[in-house]
Amino acid sequence: MNEKYDNNNIFAKILRGELPCIKVYEDNYTLAFMDIMPQMEGHTLVISKEPAVTIYDLSDEASLACMRTVKLIGIAVEAAMKVPGSTVFQHNGKDAGQTVDHFHFHVMPGSLFRANAMKGHATELADPDDLKDIADRIISCIKSG
Ligand code: AMP
Repeated sequence: MNEKYDNNNIFAKILRGELPCIKVYEDNYTLAFMDIMPQMEGHTLVISKEPAVTIYDLSDEASLACMRTVKLIGIAVEAAMKVPGSTVFQHNGKDAGQTVDHFHFHVMPGSLFRANAMKGHATELADPDDLKDIADRIISCIKSG
């Protein structure tokens, strides 16, 4: 485990079941769930189960597993949100805008560059019922890996 990893970060607590999440997918290496402060409808997170802060801390095995899950989720997000395209990104470190110190990808439907496409980063809590509805749509579009 990387020395700078803090076991008490929010995503570590979600992985241990100490905090809830609106889950869309899980396997032995990764977990995907709805962002509670989505920057647009369909904003989904893919996290590693391996404790790592940035992509540079992640093992090759965990990187591969995250990429496999990102592909499953990205395709499902496009289908669920009926948008023929998606954007995947992640932040490495506070200076890059990382607010949760556990490695994760953001998966968004469509483009970030449309006018008014995005709300602020980690600013506005969504209605959990709305998130659950979107999660159900995404789950129904996940094809087995
Ligand atoms: P980053 O700033 O790249 O580290 O992204 C962290 C993301 O986690 C932000 O988009 C937050 O809205 C999101 N987030 C924070 N807490 C939670 C939580 N408990 N459940 C789901 N998403 C969260």
